[in-house]
Formats: sequence, structure tokens, C-alpha cells
Amino acid sequence: MIICSDVDGVILNYIQGFIDFTRDEDIDYQYNPENYGVITGIENAENLRKRFHAKDYLRQLQYYEGALEVLNRLVEKDEVHLVTAIQPECSEMRAENLTALNYTSLQCVGDAAKERVIIEEVVPDVMIEDRPELIKAFHGAGIPVFYPDWHPYTRGMEAFGTPFSHWNQIPELFQRMEA
Ligand SMILES: [Mg+2]
Repeated sequence: MIICSDVDGVILNYIQGFIDFTRDEDIDYQYNPENYGVITGIENAENLRKRFHAKDYLRQLQYYEGALEVLNRLVEKDEVHLVTAIQPECSEMRAENLTALNYTSLQCVGDAAKERVIIEEVVPDVMIEDRPELIKAFHGAGIPVFYPDWHPYTRGMEAFGTPFSHWNQIPELFQRMEA
């Protein structure tokens, strides 16, 4: 099986990393978990993103519980491709953050290219994604989507994908799909 997974919001907790950054830097910031995108739509978004990425946060984001163990087990028999909307210049930091994780490939392609790379180049049998627009897009392209339901912003996605609450549920959900 060809598995493709997003990284931020699914495997790594980019949200908490950004919140920690604003706290450490004394930046006035209030995260709204109802909205997708931790930086999108706020004042000085681009400037803040650059400052965040210029520090070491991106090398040490925390894994969501179970992600590392479950993916490392899956990659023993399946292909696991990681495609992230983070910019290509962040590739080295991202790879460093993912040192403990085994995967088939890792691509940092930028926001604009992500959907196309996954649908046209990776062509996965399953996709793991948290961004509502992309959950809909991959579903529309005929790719079964699994999404983490611990983010309030994924509420209402049941028509476009299968929710999961913990990575431990993923192997069984995949098995059921293959059967
Ligand atoms: Mg994401």
C-alpha cells in the first residue's frame, strides 16, 4: 500500500511549536483552535512565520502521541511518503526533526504545489491530512482520506474522510479498507 501523510497537525505539533515561540518571544498571540492555520490570517503573518522558522523550533516540534511508533511499524511493509506544505528551504530542519521516523520519502514542496504533487506524483492509496480544503480535494480526486479529529477545525469532514482520534487506530482502519 502507498501511504502518504501530511506532517504538520498530523505527525508533528506545529501549532504548539508556534505557541511556544510567541510565548518565548513575548509576542501577543491568541490561538483559535476553531480555525485551520496557526499563522494564517493573523497580523504580520509572513514576518512571524519567517521569525519562527529562523529559530530552532522547527527542528524540535513534538510528535503527536503514537505517530512515531505507528508509522515506523507501517513502513516495514508499506511505502510511507511524507509531503508537507512547508517551504523547500526548511527541508533540512524538517528532516532533523524527523530523524527518529522511518519513511520512504520526504518532500517539502510549499503550499502552492502540495495538492498537485500528491495527486499527480505520489498517487497514494490513502492520504492522512488535517487541512479541510485538502481533505475535500483529495477526496474529490478519489483518494481515501484519514484525518485527525482532535482539531476542532476538522469537524464536519465526515463526508470527505475517516476521522481518527489516536494514531493507534490507523493500522486497523487501513486493514479494514484493504479487506
Ligand atoms: Mg497539516
